[in-house]
Amino acid sequence: MYPVSLEVKDRRCLVVGGGGIALRKVQGLVEAGALVAVVAPEVVEPISIMAERGEISLERRRYDGDASGGWSLVFAATDDRGVNERVFRDAEEVGVWANVADDPEICSFHLPARVRRGPLQIALGSAGEAPFAVARLRRLFERRLGEEWGEWLAAAARYRTRVRSLELSGPEMNERYDRFFDETVDGQNLTARVPTEAEERKWLQAEVDHKAIESGPPSKSKRGCPGDSSGAGFVSLVGAGPGCPGLLTIRGRRRLADADAVVFDRLAAAALPCDLPASVELHPVGKVAGTHPIPQEEINALLVRLARAGKRVVRLKGGDPYVFGRGSEEAEVLVSEGIPFEVVSGVTSGVAALAWAGIPATHRRESVRLTLLTAHEAVKSDGPQVRWDLLAQDQHATLVGYMGVTALAAVVEHLLEAGMDPETPAAMVERGTTAAQRRVISTLADLPKAIEEAGLEPPALFAIGPSVRHADRLAWYEALPLAGCRLVMTDSNSELAAALEDRGAEVVMLPLPVTPAARVVMAALPITGCVVSQRSEVDWLDEERGNPGWHAESVVWCIGHETAERARERGWLKVVELGEESDCEELVARVAGVVDR
Ligand code: SAH
Repeated sequence: MYPVSLEVKDRRCLVVGGGGIALRKVQGLVEAGALVAVVAPEVVEPISIMAERGEISLERRRYDGDASGGWSLVFAATDDRGVNERVFRDAEEVGVWANVADDPEICSFHLPARVRRGPLQIALGSAGEAPFAVARLRRLFERRLGEEWGEWLAAAARYRTRVRSLELSGPEMNERYDRFFDETVDGQNLTARVPTEAEERKWLQAEVDHKAIESGPPSKSKRGCPGDSSGAGFVSLVGAGPGCPGLLTIRGRRRLADADAVVFDRLAAAALPCDLPASVELHPVGKVAGTHPIPQEEINALLVRLARAGKRVVRLKGGDPYVFGRGSEEAEVLVSEGIPFEVVSGVTSGVAALAWAGIPATHRRESVRLTLLTAHEAVKSDGPQVRWDLLAQDQHATLVGYMGVTALAAVVEHLLEAGMDPETPAAMVERGTTAAQRRVISTLADLPKAIEEAGLEPPALFAIGPSVRHADRLAWYEALPLAGCRLVMTDSNSELAAALEDRGAEVVMLPLPVTPAARVVMAALPITGCVVSQRSEVDWLDEERGNPGWHAESVVWCIGHETAERARERGWLKVVELGEESDCEELVARVAGVVDR
C-alpha cells in the first residue's frame, strides 16, 4: 500500500449506493471539488437534496455496468455484496481505482481515517488490516489535538512563503523552519500556537550562527511557560534526580524542553534529555575530575546574565535543588536581582540511591526518623553545627550522609565517641540509581575500612541505622539481569529499548543526527555498548565512539548480518551478531549473556 493525497478537483467520480456510507463518500468528494455521480435505486434524503441543488448528478436506478469507463475513482457502497463485486470488477477491467466500503479484500485503494484541523490533515490507515484500531486511534487524536492546529498550519504555510522569498541556502532555510517549529509546538502536550508578527520577523532575519541566537533579544512566549509575559527571563531550579534518567520529573522534563539555556552540574548530566535541540545553550558548571569547579559566585552571575537577556533558564542540579545543592543560595540571588524563579523539586539521592541499594529510608518500628546530613560538618573547623550526641543516641533512626566519602572516618569517630553502638548497620552507596552503582554494606565501626578496600569514590553517600539491615534481601536493582549495563541505541527500536530498561539497563536514546545534549549524556558515565539494527546506525555511532563515555571494549550488538559486517568493516573490536528474526525476549537474553558484570 502506498499512501497518496489525490487531487480530485473537477474529476469525475462514481458512487454506487445511496445509504449513509455512500453519503459520507459523496460529501467528502464534493468538499474536495470532485464531479460526483450517484447511481442507486433509493437514496437517503441528503443525497437527493444535493442532487436537487445541482451539487451532484443522481440516477435513481440499479447499477448497470456504469463503472466501466470515464471515471477517476469509483466507490461501491451498496448493501449487496454481489453488486459491490461487480462494480469492483468492472472498474478493474478498465484500470480505474475502486473502493468497496467495508470489504478490504476487493479494494484497489483504501480510505484513511482522517483528523482534520483546517488545512492540516492527519491520515491514519492500516491498509485494511485493522480498521477498528485505526478508528480508535483517530478518536484519540481527535481528543488530543486542539482546534489551534488549523490556524497553526495556516500560519506555517504563510511563513513558508516568506522564507522562500528570501532565497536562502538549504541549511539556512531549515534553521528558520526549525525555529518556527521549536518555538510554536509543545510536543509534550501536543499543543501549538500561532507566532506573532514580531517573532516571525525575528526568525526570518536571524543570523544562522549560534552567537547571534545567544545574544538575541528576549525570545519565546510559549503558552504555559512561566516568566514570558514581560519578556524578562525566568529561572527554573530543576532537580534532575539522582542519576537514573527516568527519575527526572515530568515538570522538569517540560521545563527543559522549553528552555533557551541549561546550566547543569556534573551530577545532573546523565538526566539531560538527549533530544534537546541543538539551539539550546548548554553551560556545564559542575566539577569535573582534574579541573577546578566554577565558583558559586560565577554560577550566580551566569544565571543572572542569562535571565537578564530574556532567556528561559533551567538550572539543573543533581537530586533535589534544595537538598545540599546550594539551590537556596541561587534563589536568594535571583530574588535580590528581581528575577522571577521557581523550584521544580527532584528525587533526592539520599532516599533513592539507598532504595536502589536495598535500603529503605525508614522502616516501621525500626527506623522512625530520617536525618539528612552533610558529612562536611564532621571536618569543619569553625564550630560544630551538628549534635553528634543526639544522633548517636537515636537508635530508631536512619542517618544519611551526603558528600560523605572523605569525611566518613571523621563522622564515625564522632559517633563512636558519643557512644553509638559500633555494630550499628552502616552502608555506603556510590552513584546510586545509575549503571555505575556500587555499594558496601558493613557496620559503623568497620565501614571506613570497608569502603577503602572496595575503593568507593564520590559521588557517594552513607546510611547508618537499623534499616540498613535489610539491604541484601531488598537489593532488587542489582538482581536485575542488566543492572550495570549502559546501552546506547537510536530511537528506531523503542520496544527493545523498553524491554532492556525493564531488565535493569540504562538506555541512552540517541536522536540522529546526534545532538550536543546527547554527547553530554553519553560522556556522563561509561558506556557498555550499543545496539544497532542498520548499517547507517553503525556509521553514525562510529563517529561518536572516540568521545568520552566510550571505550575500546564497548560492545556493538548488531541485529542482522549486514549490520554486523558493517561494524567489522569499521573496526569495532567486540561485534555480537543477533538474528534479524529474534524477538525482544531473545535479544534481551543475548545482550544479558554478553554483559560482563
Ligand atoms: N542535591 C543533591 C545532593 C547534592 S550534594 C540531592 O538531592 O541528591 C552531592 C552529594 O550528593 C554527593 O557528594 C553524594 O553524597 C550525593 N549524591 C548525589 N547523587 C548521588 C548518587 N547517585 N549516589 C550516591 N550519592 C549521590
